[in-house]
Amino acid sequence: MVIELLQQSLHRCNHTGMETNQQVRVRIAPSPTGKMHIGTARTALFNKLFALHHNGTYCVRIEDTDKERSTPENIDFIKDAFKWLGLEPDDGSYVLQSQNIEKHKTAAQKLLNSGKAYKDDGAVRFKIPEGHTHWQDLVQGDITYDNKDLEDFVILRSDGTPTYHLGVVVDDAEMGITHIIRGDDHINNTPKQILLHHALGYAAPSFAHIPLIHGPDGSKLSKRHGAASVQDYCDQGYLSAALRHYLMQLSWLPGDAMEPLTLEQAGVQFNISDVKKGPASFDAAKLESINARYLKETPPIMLLALLNPLFKQQGLENTEETTPRVLKGIRGLVDRAKNLVELADMASCYVQSPPFKLDEAAQAILENGQEHIQMLKAELNDATWDGELLHTIIADYVKDHNLKFPMVGKPLRVALTGRVNGQGLADIMVALGKDETLSRLEKI
Ligand code: GLU
Repeated sequence: MVIELLQQSLHRCNHTGMETNQQVRVRIAPSPTGKMHIGTARTALFNKLFALHHNGTYCVRIEDTDKERSTPENIDFIKDAFKWLGLEPDDGSYVLQSQNIEKHKTAAQKLLNSGKAYKDDGAVRFKIPEGHTHWQDLVQGDITYDNKDLEDFVILRSDGTPTYHLGVVVDDAEMGITHIIRGDDHINNTPKQILLHHALGYAAPSFAHIPLIHGPDGSKLSKRHGAASVQDYCDQGYLSAALRHYLMQLSWLPGDAMEPLTLEQAGVQFNISDVKKGPASFDAAKLESINARYLKETPPIMLLALLNPLFKQQGLENTEETTPRVLKGIRGLVDRAKNLVELADMASCYVQSPPFKLDEAAQAILENGQEHIQMLKAELNDATWDGELLHTIIADYVKDHNLKFPMVGKPLRVALTGRVNGQGLADIMVALGKDETLSRLEKI
């Protein structure tokens, strides 16, 4: 078994362009542009999984050389999104490209000195050598460019600032990056960057270009398709583990793989050569169902930590007294909620104290059901507080009085939660406990 595993991993190494004993180092290199596009999150995730799989290191470099867009707020969008997703850099520190500008300039000078670059109107241009540039892309397969099709390109602008190609190559080499996993919109940049690596005397890293995420209409996923940023999903009450799971399903994990996975478990399974070449199509309904699944699988105590800030946003304070009610209540509610926002809304009745603000319909239901509530209260007063018994008491009352269940159930639910619809009554009563239930029925 052990030998088999070893053979498998050797086999994998051969398919990932790695030399024996090479220590894998990968990076995600986002530019601060605002909220983080989920495509960037997926690229980061695939880098992290690749690093986990090969026991390597996952780094984050923020490409912050565009002064106008690299505001502290935009940089925080990147850091906050990675924090929420569990995709912070392995060594805890973010590399800022702007701090390497001197190194970029030195590299440009080196290329000028060796005749591999030349001055053109004050800018510095890299001279494309003759021949072909080839790489074995770990996702796309063999790619070859005829250098004749590449133009000499600017590496240092006339104002002395380095361009993207120069910065990226020098930084990747300085950081010891062994594999570059990025969106396939970068394929055309790769031959230029390989040539730059070679001209500067570096061994070029291996490349893997992963397909972009498309919307249902076939165009690149954007705000037009609804939520497209990590922050949007966070605000809408998605669990980060669920978003990660869905992002893994875009181009890698099979669509029917629904079992929740930790990053580490996914890392064990991740094989870059299994990533599909074709565009990935975003399916919001699938993400929603994965989120619902993860909600059910998350222990209530962990959900509580995520719900408390949402209660606060509703102006509610979950106290020592109300916490046990929420914990019991959410066990039944996770089956009804698709996301944390819905769950917080439904569970708010356990944090709020009556009187509830009732809409007209709820008010009418409550008034019409007064008599039943008063009569049931007496029976509940003597009851042992057990879900099944409580259900039987209500069901027997309904039967004995020849009523329909909603005629009793709805006013009771309004009295206890302020809402007409929702969780089963016995579940609500058990979550509230006997004293609080009776007190809420008293207060109406
Ligand atoms: N900063 C570039 C971007 O945001 C990434 C460059 C790269 O991955 O090489 O697209």
